[in-house]
Amino acid sequence: MSTITNSLADDIQAFKDRWEDYLTQSHADQFAEFTLALSSITEQCKAHKFPGLTRLCEGLRQQVLSLPGSASGHPLNQSAVIALARQVGTILSSAEASRFPETEERRVVTAPDETSTAGMAKPRSIWLVADDAHPWSDGLSEQLTFFGFRVSRFNWSNIAPEGASPLVILFIPPSGYDAAEIGCIESIRAKHPASQLFCLAVPELLDPMVTLLRAGADVTIPAPQQTSTVLAHVLDLIEAQDQEPFRVLVVEDSPTAIAAIRRTLSQHGIDNHAINSPEQLLEAVWQYRPDLVLMDMHMPHCTGIEATRVLRQLPACQSLPVVYLSSETDMGMQVAALRLGGDQFINKPFNPVLLTTVVKTKIERHREMQRSSQHDGLTGLLNHTASKTRLNQLIHAMQTEHDKLCVAMLDIDHFKAINDVHGHPVGDQVIRNLAWLLKGRLRTSDIIGRYGGEEFLVVLRGVGLTDAYAVLDRIRRDFANLPQAHGGGSLSASFSAGVAAYPEFTTDKELIDAADNALLEAKSRGRNRIHVSNAFIDTEGNLRLNAQSRS
Ligand code: GH3
Ligand code: MG
Ligand code: MG
Ligand code: MG
Repeated sequence: MSTITNSLADDIQAFKDRWEDYLTQSHADQFAEFTLALSSITEQCKAHKFPGLTRLCEGLRQQVLSLPGSASGHPLNQSAVIALARQVGTILSSAEASRFPETEERRVVTAPDETSTAGMAKPRSIWLVADDAHPWSDGLSEQLTFFGFRVSRFNWSNIAPEGASPLVILFIPPSGYDAAEIGCIESIRAKHPASQLFCLAVPELLDPMVTLLRAGADVTIPAPQQTSTVLAHVLDLIEAQDQEPFRVLVVEDSPTAIAAIRRTLSQHGIDNHAINSPEQLLEAVWQYRPDLVLMDMHMPHCTGIEATRVLRQLPACQSLPVVYLSSETDMGMQVAALRLGGDQFINKPFNPVLLTTVVKTKIERHREMQRSSQHDGLTGLLNHTASKTRLNQLIHAMQTEHDKLCVAMLDIDHFKAINDVHGHPVGDQVIRNLAWLLKGRLRTSDIIGRYGGEEFLVVLRGVGLTDAYAVLDRIRRDFANLPQAHGGGSLSASFSAGVAAYPEFTTDKELIDAADNALLEAKSRGRNRIHVSNAFIDTEGNLRLNAQSRS
């Protein structure tokens, strides 16, 4: 099995080298290597969430796919080479600029795994283009600043900033997007190809949206949704992705075909495992846990169709994508294969770009579907059931490892009053802000779930009570200081939490009940505080913690 081990910076160097090889030798072979290097950095940029670089790489990939891959098409004509060289240059200089982390400290959110990826850093600056007195500007800047972004504000009449491209440029139109605003967006797009352009207050109509997308906008945000949507998009751009590599199980009896398929998958960063007989299929599925099966049609023992039908009998494999890879050219057979549980048919010999594109898009959809069944729509956190399941799995794993773990229940204080005074949508935004703060602060190995309406379950791994208390209390203080922007103003909110630790409590139910009781205690002692489970009050450290929980 292969895994992605090259750092992004190394891959970018390889991409540069492959391009230079092509410039000196100009054969289709070098072009193919260059294309593979480009695919590889595109995937890495996506996985590491470098939105600007991803954007540039995808643009170039689009162009490369339209050029001839065969020997007779090379060398490419001069104008095609010049156009490619320009884009390659932009990617390399944008990657180079990313190597120098911005010096500004993020004020509040400091995700431990987000500071640097493969020796590169994401820009944290945002430009806001709006008329001075626009009612959204202040609230939006304040929130973005709180989440660690450096916001620079510009007027529509006066956007001439030079220098490093920001992560995002936000546009709030004076009244609508007229020719002057569109022209302005086009020229910014040309000057800052790596930045994400977000247009706010866009009418939900086809024509204006198409016009903005053509002018170079990446995201159009309809008029009624404002700061929350912008924040969600921006945070999503920089959120570290804990995406595991895609795993593909190859079921194929021909060693030559296995070698060709595995080489293509590995070159595109896709982890893979091959079995040469369907007899091993069920065991391989359990052990390797593939995201997709590439199934040959004709094999000993049974056909690919029969093997797929068997898979579909197993509840855990009912939605596992199966792609047939076969030299089968009979249309009737292909239709039967799809009707009996396959997802797609690819002919052998296969086109590597088509194969990897199909594999990746099928896996992305499949993971997205699985994700949405486990995650909460408002916050993107794990939902009630999924967070309990994860806690349970963790505890099962712990009993053999003698490890530490803390469970916390958080509940926003006087939340009914926030809804009553400011309305339900503002209440929703307060819930999201707490979710984002937790996501920004805790490690990806911790569990963060939306347990109920304004209640969260947090599980900190490998952490004792004192450390858990310190982490949560810092979040509590920052949340209480967070300006919660709403319709032109801002409000304050706070939360209370109860914490309980393993192994003093040993089952998920005991831990959650103990944390819940501690939460009730925190509420009754005045809210905006963390209370650790009463079971610890007799030890000197914990007594001290409870007495000090309010600052
Ligand atoms: P306390 O400090 O004791 O927790 O007071 P509270 O007002 O927060 O009381 P409680 O926890 O009982 O109130 C929760 C309220 O949250 C009740 C419900 O209307 C509201 N709520 C639940 N889910 C949502 C949601 O998804 N969005 C919004 N806006 N409100 C919600
Ligand atoms: Mg075969
Ligand atoms: Mg509640
Ligand atoms: Mg509450």
